[in-house]
Amino acid sequence: MTLPIPSDRTRLHRHSERGAPDPAAARAILDEALTCHLAFLRDGAPVVLPTIHTRVDDHLYFHGAASNFMLRAAIGQAICCAVTLVDGLVLARSAFHHSMNYRSVVVFGEGSEVKDPATKLRVLEALVEHAAPGRLADLPPIADDHVRKTLVVGMPLREFSCKVRSGPAGFAEREEDPALWAGVLPLRLAAGAPVTDDRVPEGVPVPASVAGWARG
Ligand SMILES: Cc1cc2nc3c(=O)[nH]c(=O)nc-3n(C[C@H](O)[C@H](O)[C@H](O)COP(=O)(O)OP(=O)(O)OC[C@H]3O[C@@H](n4cnc5c(N)ncnc54)[C@H](O)[C@@H]3O)c2cc1C
Repeated sequence: MTLPIPSDRTRLHRHSERGAPDPAAARAILDEALTCHLAFLRDGAPVVLPTIHTRVDDHLYFHGAASNFMLRAAIGQAICCAVTLVDGLVLARSAFHHSMNYRSVVVFGEGSEVKDPATKLRVLEALVEHAAPGRLADLPPIADDHVRKTLVVGMPLREFSCKVRSGPAGFAEREEDPALWAGVLPLRLAAGAPVTDDRVPEGVPVPASVAGWARG
């Protein structure tokens, strides 16, 4: 199957030239972004909550407590997940032309509960690796009880759009003063120095998965 599947609701109308139809671009954005926003209906009204996602092949997954309202509401229902990476502030010569450089993905689909323990385990491992690649190898195996207590919901990565803005600010030659400073302030997610937990005995080194953490 060719992904993404053609769909009216994922067709970009505004700045369609910013569309990035190559699914590899969407996958790279989903993998780089630490978090997403998941939209669902609660009592017929829209709600959007931030959460962590992970991608395993052509599925997106979310997890939480067994009683998690967002996840419960997502099961068997239409949901929409938005993932955003902000790459820079686009500072133009007029307020009107200010913008942001970004890469974003919007996924539509239906949520379904992952019940198979082996698949759940794979997703929970993927969530750890999504946040901190290499961290899983530092940890004991995930306990069966923790797998049981966790609700995992997935959605297919089939109907999605990807939009990317890059480059300089817009400039209206007849209205704007070229002598005014304009440009792009690049932004990126960076880690600070690790803060070791008080209970860790002295001399235990910070693992490479933490010391070398980087994004993008
Ligand atoms: C960090 C950030 C800041 C932004 N700030 C603004 C702003 O201040 N004002 C503004 O108007 N727009 C902003 N945008 C762009 C915004 O996301 C929409 O693309 C834009 O508003 C066009 O909306 P529309 O309803 O006309 O989209 P349409 O083109 O009609 O949307 C149709 C379909 O295209 C897809 N689509 C639309 N936008 C995106 C997207 N960003 N990523 C992936 N798929 C998309 C969706 O599947 C959607 O259902 C911002 C985007 C980002 C990521």
